[in-house]
Amino acid sequence: MILTVAPPSTLRHEEWEYLIHSVLSAVPAFITDSNGIILWGSERFGDLTGYSVADIVGMTPEIFKSQVHDNRFYGKLWKTITKGKIWEGQVTNRDRNGSLLHLRLRIIPFKKRKQGITHFIALYEDITREMELQERLKQSEEKQNELLTTLMPLMKELKEATTALENARTEKDAILNATGEAMVLISNQHDILWFNRSFEDMFLVQYTSDSSITTEALHSHLQKAFENANEVLSKYFTSTESTFTEQATYTQVWPQKRNLEIYASPVKSKSEEYIGSLVVLRDVTREREVERLKTEFISHITHEFRTPLTSIRGYTEMMLDGDTGELSDDQRQFLNTVSRNANYLSDLVNDLLEVSKIESGAVRIKLVEVDLRSSIEDVIERLSPQASEKRIRLQTRIPKSPLEIKADPNRLSQILLNLMSNAIKYTKEGGRVTVTVRKRKSAIAVSVEDTGIGMSSEDLEHLFEKFYRSSNPYVESVRGTGLGLWITKSMVEMHGGSITVESKVGKGSRFTFTIPR
Ligand code: ADP
Repeated sequence: MILTVAPPSTLRHEEWEYLIHSVLSAVPAFITDSNGIILWGSERFGDLTGYSVADIVGMTPEIFKSQVHDNRFYGKLWKTITKGKIWEGQVTNRDRNGSLLHLRLRIIPFKKRKQGITHFIALYEDITREMELQERLKQSEEKQNELLTTLMPLMKELKEATTALENARTEKDAILNATGEAMVLISNQHDILWFNRSFEDMFLVQYTSDSSITTEALHSHLQKAFENANEVLSKYFTSTESTFTEQATYTQVWPQKRNLEIYASPVKSKSEEYIGSLVVLRDVTREREVERLKTEFISHITHEFRTPLTSIRGYTEMMLDGDTGELSDDQRQFLNTVSRNANYLSDLVNDLLEVSKIESGAVRIKLVEVDLRSSIEDVIERLSPQASEKRIRLQTRIPKSPLEIKADPNRLSQILLNLMSNAIKYTKEGGRVTVTVRKRKSAIAVSVEDTGIGMSSEDLEHLFEKFYRSSNPYVESVRGTGLGLWITKSMVEMHGGSITVESKVGKGSRFTFTIPR
């Protein structure tokens, strides 16, 4: 591009000059002759470089040179402009103080016809700030890259951990959703945190992790679902207990009638801090129905057995008593076997009926004030014929003070009778059975101690299981069903107590049960 310096026809020469001067003064610029000697510099150029016009006039632009560009750079520039072409590019110059200036430069050569190039105009634009910004941008990009390189492996690890966690969660959810038991997680503030699919199905509620049902809504939902809703809510859903809440059966009435077994187990943090509880609800409707049918069946069978058994036992007794005439030794021996077996059958039938009633929950205890001393004395009186037959001494160690306890009198007698008759049964002739009562802080403890055959550690392990009898030959020679201790333990637990046993083979045993005061 060649600049035309001739003024347009609409402007007078002086006007044109004035305009050119004003434009040049408004930007950092200087003018040189064709040899590059500075003839004029603008004030803005002075502002930018710190040089005054007087400083630069007569000098060449060499005074602005920094060491940044080599001679080839300047050679090319000079070649371009002396050919009459505009040179455009970035340069780094030094200001008057020696500081570097980053500039965009445009050098425009002026030609006059015939004369060739007469002047050069250098126009500057300060890009120091722009360069600084670019530099900072570059630096921050580098920093970012550096950070990314360190972060990448971490992010990979994090991703892997998250995937593992998600998998574990999905697996856990799958397991928890697959169980038939309904589960609800409750915070220590009683907020419902989560429940599984079985709970949704059981109570017709929907759980989504992002918009879970509110605790209040769920409580009112449960209100209509249970017969004893207030009890269920206060015991399992709004309780402040941080321990295991005992299992109990409740009747669900909506949306379907069901028997639900419920318990709550505390959820603790690693530092053993109580953070909430898990409530588990199990549908036991079918189980209860099966149990009911079983009990019904057993009680029917029992009844059917009892009548013929009574006559078998009655008639054998009569025959053994000689009511039907003299018996030969053989006849007596056979009848004794019949009598023994009939008695065993009768015991078995009675015990089976009892077990089945307990298992179906049909046994309810009625707690009343009971005088423990007289209960023990009654049982001793009932058992004294058996004891004296084996010359076993029955003795008691009972405190003098009143021994009123809250218990079901029939069940308490049953517990005492089972333990004391076992003590007599499994003690050889001439032994001793002692009943001791101790008052503890929160319970009364009753011990039945004998000097009998004792039990092995294996016996102690299985003692309270149904039908368990020791393989000791002495035990085998004594009539028994193996159900008595299971029934006894159940009865004690129904009273809120517990039963323990200590024993040594050949030395004797001590059974101790407690009844809360
Ligand atoms: P049963 O006496 O009808 O066999 P139990 O359930 O009452 O059934 O007792 C289970 C078993 O425990 C007995 O068969 C016996 O082996 C053992 N046992 C119970 N009480 C005593 C005792 N006082 N001394 C030794 N063994 C005992």
